[in-house]
Amino acid sequence: MVKLPEGLLRDLKDVRGYDEDAFITAHTFSSLTSVRLNPGKPAVLFPEAENVPWNNLGRYLAQRPVFTLDPAYHAGAYYVQEASSMFLGHLLEGVFKGKTRLRVLDLCAAPGGKSTLLASMLDKDSLLISNEVIRTRASILEENMTRWGHSNTWVTSNDPRDFSKLAGYFDVIVVDAPCSGSGLFRKDERAVDEWSEANVALCRGRQERILEDVWPSLKEGGVLVYATCSYSPQEDEGVLDWVASNYEVSSIRTSLDPEWGIVESEAEKGLVGYRFFPDKVKGEGFFIAAIRKNDEAGTPDMNRFKTAHNSKIFQQAEYLLHGSNWTVIPVGKDEYSAINPLHEQDLQILQKAVYLRRTGLNLGMPAQKEWLPAHEVALGIDAAKDLPHLEVSREDALRFLKREDMGQMQKGWLIIKYNGLGLGWIKSLGNRANNYLPKQWRIRMELG
Ligand code: SAM
Repeated sequence: MVKLPEGLLRDLKDVRGYDEDAFITAHTFSSLTSVRLNPGKPAVLFPEAENVPWNNLGRYLAQRPVFTLDPAYHAGAYYVQEASSMFLGHLLEGVFKGKTRLRVLDLCAAPGGKSTLLASMLDKDSLLISNEVIRTRASILEENMTRWGHSNTWVTSNDPRDFSKLAGYFDVIVVDAPCSGSGLFRKDERAVDEWSEANVALCRGRQERILEDVWPSLKEGGVLVYATCSYSPQEDEGVLDWVASNYEVSSIRTSLDPEWGIVESEAEKGLVGYRFFPDKVKGEGFFIAAIRKNDEAGTPDMNRFKTAHNSKIFQQAEYLLHGSNWTVIPVGKDEYSAINPLHEQDLQILQKAVYLRRTGLNLGMPAQKEWLPAHEVALGIDAAKDLPHLEVSREDALRFLKREDMGQMQKGWLIIKYNGLGLGWIKSLGNRANNYLPKQWRIRMELG
């Protein structure tokens, strides 16, 4: 049985909704497994599973499958996400409703749970910047966002401070802050040993710094979402009080069904947050609040710019795209990406301030006699629907994902599909086929 830190239990004594006995008992049970379906990649998945009440795409799984052995997971048809976190969608529903061309920043985004959820909520003319400061984690984020398949989700890897150059640029900023992690004790028992009061204080200081750094880039009237997976009031309501003391803000509240068991908690200076206790909610520990910025902000520099659209390349690569309303721009060495023309100005603004790792849908590169399509095209929901493909069995899909030889098949570039879901490219030469799945993506596990 998990022995919960005394210091944490002490800190929680006066927190609204806290019931010590029930809280301790809930920690004798293991954590739940849940997934969220990708509406951009419809497939029949988990038909028997129970719905997450606050997110119509969320499902609780009765057992935890080996996700690595499910090709639909690799195709980005769903994301494994803790159920409480999915409440972000409910909280932002009213904020996003009827809006288009929003600029949204997910500042602490890896591995991508909140970003994939945001991507599914935003319309195609809005732009999501998923940022992760730690490089190794940024590559996992990039992989997950590529799987999810939206070309209007770009990935950056910057320190929060770098965003302060983008005065008044974002409509919504999500800060899912690094924290002391007590909300995940049931998922990771080691986190219990690592917990300390000193670490809570350290995290609190870091949370304030992150918010201070990113605050200038939120526009006046814009919305900050602040979340942690910590129960400690110092990192939750305490941070809301810090925000209210330093800035002109007001709370954004949402409706709650009492059956969900989510607790609305008011910080001393009046800002409202939502608490998730595992004895009340079908999910792990979580805290989230939405705050409107009422103080003045600068305005982004919307200068005229010369388009970087390469029409010659567009003609060569257009067959890979769904529709024709695209701007094709160079990215990296010899490669090209397709972006929504409405986002070219954003590109001009963003690239002066931050390092863009992924911009739009990477199309690949021209070679001597043909176009070399990028892996992203096989996973992109904005790719052409009628590209040559080969539907394979689960066994063959797993062999492809292990980068094994696929045997003989028709000649040419083919997308390997499992249940209609793209997994990656092969180039078949008739007697053998080259597997173009990026090496770092391959399944390393023995298939048995
Ligand atoms: N939002 C993610 C999701 O839903 O999958 C989880 C984010 S996790 C709670 C916090 C993230 O903040 C981690 O990826 C971590 O690497 C990052 N981080 C750590 N220190 C940071 C800092 N000083 N500034 C910004 N982000 C930081």
